[in-house]
Amino acid sequence: MIDWTIIKILSWTESYFKDHCIDSPRLTAEVLLAHCLGIKRLDLYLQFDRPLQKNELSGFRILIKRRVRNEPVAYITGEKGFFESDFKVGTGVLIPRPDTETIVEQALKILDPGKKKSCTKTVLELGTGSGVIIISLAKEFGNHLYFASDISPVALEIAKKNAEKIALGRICFFSCSWFSSLKETPRFDLIISNPPYIPTGDIRGLEPEITKFEPMIALDGGRDGLDSFKDILKKAHNYLNPGGKILLEMGFDQKEGVKNISGQYPQYEFIEFIRDLAGHSRVVLIKKIN
Ligand code: GLN
Repeated sequence: MIDWTIIKILSWTESYFKDHCIDSPRLTAEVLLAHCLGIKRLDLYLQFDRPLQKNELSGFRILIKRRVRNEPVAYITGEKGFFESDFKVGTGVLIPRPDTETIVEQALKILDPGKKKSCTKTVLELGTGSGVIIISLAKEFGNHLYFASDISPVALEIAKKNAEKIALGRICFFSCSWFSSLKETPRFDLIISNPPYIPTGDIRGLEPEITKFEPMIALDGGRDGLDSFKDILKKAHNYLNPGGKILLEMGFDQKEGVKNISGQYPQYEFIEFIRDLAGHSRVVLIKKIN
């Protein structure tokens, strides 16, 4: 019988994942084994010749099976790093993508109080999911007032836990489909969202990690992918203070569509598209006129 030490099981799992076309097979094996043993990834190598107990082996086998059935690593470990913090995630919320750091960086520029420490802005995030955007903002600038909504109770629960851990709970979360339960009063200085924007017809072609596990409600943007932008821009001006801003993440090929929608409303002034590191326009900044 093989004595399954940490190093042996890592090599075996790496080649098993390779055979099953799993991305980054070695890294995945390390992350899952460390999670299973409750230790840090690098500690695996400090204990490389430690034999695994029977229950550790059977626990690890279950994790391997889940990954081979396409479950994303973040759902298996229950967490994902985003913008310098580790966020709790789970089925029912979108796994945060590095792409979304572009909108966070842009929002931080808008919210930076500079020398005027007393300046307080009111910020609303729509469709907060695991809360990564609003929490990253609240963690950086504690002087503003933060609100975040989601239609999904599961998402709100996860977001609240993340906020307690990372941003000391400085955010007011509430259940809402876009603006449905908000009184029409201008009170926000910034409305931010990473809404669903994938055209329905494109979803079938995405990786099974996404189609089998991630919440469609967080991804499906309707026939042309632009439904959320139509819904949000139709109403956002009623909730923004004069000069208030809207920041939205979008698909790299949705520039024209988003600009057309914003142009239908005289209340807005289009400001700019912001590019990601790959040079694609991935965020739009729109301002409500004064
Ligand atoms: N705001 C969350 C994120 O960017 C959720 C977005 C969504 O569910 N579309 O990960």
